[in-house]
Amino acid sequence: MTAAARRLSSVPAFDVDAIRADFPILARQVHGKPLVYLDSAASAQKPRAVIEAITRAYTDDYANVHRGAYYLSETSTVAYEAAREKVRAFINASSTAEIVFTKGATEAINLIAASYGRAFIKAGDEIVLTALEHHSNIVPWDLLRTATGCVIRVVPVAADGTVALSDFAASIGPRTKLVAVAHVSNVLGTILPIRAIADLAHAAGAKILIDGCQGIVHAPVDVRALDCDFYAFSGHKLYGPTGIGVLWAREALLDAMPPYQGGGDMIETVAFSGCTWAPLPAKFEAGTPPIVQAIGLGAAIDYVTAQDRDAVRAHEERLLAYATAQLGQIPGLRLIGTAPGKAAVQSFVMDGAHPHDIATVLDRSGVCVRAGHHCAQPLMEVMGVPATARASFAMYNTITEVDALVTALIKARELLT
Ligand code: PMP
Repeated sequence: MTAAARRLSSVPAFDVDAIRADFPILARQVHGKPLVYLDSAASAQKPRAVIEAITRAYTDDYANVHRGAYYLSETSTVAYEAAREKVRAFINASSTAEIVFTKGATEAINLIAASYGRAFIKAGDEIVLTALEHHSNIVPWDLLRTATGCVIRVVPVAADGTVALSDFAASIGPRTKLVAVAHVSNVLGTILPIRAIADLAHAAGAKILIDGCQGIVHAPVDVRALDCDFYAFSGHKLYGPTGIGVLWAREALLDAMPPYQGGGDMIETVAFSGCTWAPLPAKFEAGTPPIVQAIGLGAAIDYVTAQDRDAVRAHEERLLAYATAQLGQIPGLRLIGTAPGKAAVQSFVMDGAHPHDIATVLDRSGVCVRAGHHCAQPLMEVMGVPATARASFAMYNTITEVDALVTALIKARELLT
């Protein structure tokens, strides 16, 4: 057997056509051209199983949860809580008490900043971030700094998009209370060495929060193996619906934290003389929760776990390797983010063409890419660009779609430069 054949035989089989058939939207055309959806890092398309679970929930089983004594409220509650158990198993959390449903990762991080932050982070305490963070993992800490006088330290990002462990070691110290980092960069695809960063944080007596928006999609996540303290993600990037996200935190931390919002469902008793809180996780779920969205997320988790995740990962790696090689052939195009072992997200810029114009021209060919600062303005500054165009790949993308991207880019270059 040749080396190339050996390599191929070690790549798990993957039937991308069968996957594509599960996603109804992929069959549609845009501007008379087949849809080439390369923006899954912003939001992934939904498989039929998720769409049907949502329809079924509204058609057959819908009522408000937790408080109803009647049949439909009970079945709705069972389905909502079953989704929580699916999330627990998906990230290997110890208990469903540790799974708080939010409307997304942004709300989850704001919850930590407002609750944990205001209770436990004081003036002069330090929060360590990296220069590649999404605004969702910057702005809540800026708000906390204004409220408390805490200090934000920023770990630098190298030109290729890597973040050195030694720079974390240099930034984390006795004043560090929290290290808050992305698992995977939404702009560069860099995968951060979470377990090693967690070890550094814990050695300094600090907690660690992972913004898992892109990490949860990329590969299986085990919050206990990562040894993190908080892990936040959004359902819509994981093939689930919008309006649902997850905050996982260690039970002892959630127990110690004050409520984030007040209202129905999060109380045990209410009196004008004072209130007491419901047990976890209800303490952090004020108001009617995103019931059907949670059920949709549960269906998305079922869909993802039914796939051979090694095969999905190998497929996405193949797409990225091919895209990297092909994009590299286009004169004047520069790749932004080339860290070794990165995830299937590729930013780029082209001499003489603004990323927004590139995205607009690509759209005429049915190719969807994102352009802009990707909610990471500090990172744009580090990379020395005002914006990038970004193609991101999911399990349903194909090599033919990478070819369509490259052909459309060559056309864009002729038009724009
Ligand atoms: N962090 C990262 C790394 C992201 O990619 C995103 C979404 N672009 C977010 C946070 C925010 O997620 P959401 O808007 O779903 O709350």
